[in-house]
Amino acid sequence: MSEDADEALERERASLEVAAAAGIHRLAIPTPFMVGRINAYLIEDSPLTLIDSGPNSAKALDELEQALAARGHAVEDIELLVISHQHMDHFGLASILARRSGAEVAALSGLAPLLAGYGRQTDLDDSLAEIMMLRHGIPPEIVTALRAVSAGFRAWGSAVEVTRPLAADSTLELAGRTLQVLHRPGHSPSDTVFHDADRGILLAADHLIAHISSNPLLARPLDAGEEYLDRARAGERPQALITYMASLEITREMELALVLPGHGRPITDHRPLIDDRFRLHARRAAKINRLIAAQPRTAHEIAQELWGNVAVTQAYLTLSEVLGHVDLLLRDGLVVEHETGGVVRFAPS
Ligand SMILES: [Zn+2]
Repeated sequence: MSEDADEALERERASLEVAAAAGIHRLAIPTPFMVGRINAYLIEDSPLTLIDSGPNSAKALDELEQALAARGHAVEDIELLVISHQHMDHFGLASILARRSGAEVAALSGLAPLLAGYGRQTDLDDSLAEIMMLRHGIPPEIVTALRAVSAGFRAWGSAVEVTRPLAADSTLELAGRTLQVLHRPGHSPSDTVFHDADRGILLAADHLIAHISSNPLLARPLDAGEEYLDRARAGERPQALITYMASLEITREMELALVLPGHGRPITDHRPLIDDRFRLHARRAAKINRLIAAQPRTAHEIAQELWGNVAVTQAYLTLSEVLGHVDLLLRDGLVVEHETGGVVRFAPS
């Protein structure tokens, strides 16, 4: 192993020790997704608290049980389960854990209906994805295939009832700490981070991840129901990247010793990392601007230009990336949007 990798591992170990000294233990739970393991965090406090659950799979449950046992706990001991956001790798096991433990389930109040109505909500998400993909140039046969793929993934999530809805900017009081509940939308509309101001620790889930740029996926606003589909057909779309960058600006100003993310290693240098992200997005927006300046294109054509075949296999992800950056260009007046026959092309302004 190289010295750099050695040092990185050493820093990771040291950060996890700082968290452990605060009673916070990372439990890395396997997922079937490209992102790899998700970090759930066990907080040994009263109530015994678990932040996020892992996906709804026997393997995730098995490993979670082993990780809990290694700390002398069982699923039945969990008293409070907190859900950070609407992605199934973070909440899929929650209903099983809540049933077995009788734990309270806490989440941002705006997230509660999405979790309770998981099946129907996922239908709406898939319908929105379909509208967006067709509107932005992805061929109909690919859209149909991707909808089947998405349906196949659905069982990694599961509906769960939130028994303790949390207001943004409220606090979650444990015997040994106070966690501020902060809404930081962008990666998803429900992203919630939990701030222990006394210790300078932020439980950040997917709001900030060290080894990958957290992708701002296009998703319905939290308060939008079925009527949003009509608005999407008429051309409205969520401004995920703009929202995300505004959230990162706020996080950047926080005094933090340690950020515990939903994937990968702890973060001790959140400001340079966030500055890196801003530079990355500026570079990518500039590159997309050059592509559009050369010739008007659909978002899907831009994605293919940037990522080749990945633009097909990961069509919605790459579409979200492109549209996020196009939103920056539209905001800055650099490009314009034209629709013909229900398909949108971006052109220089
Ligand atoms: Zn996520």
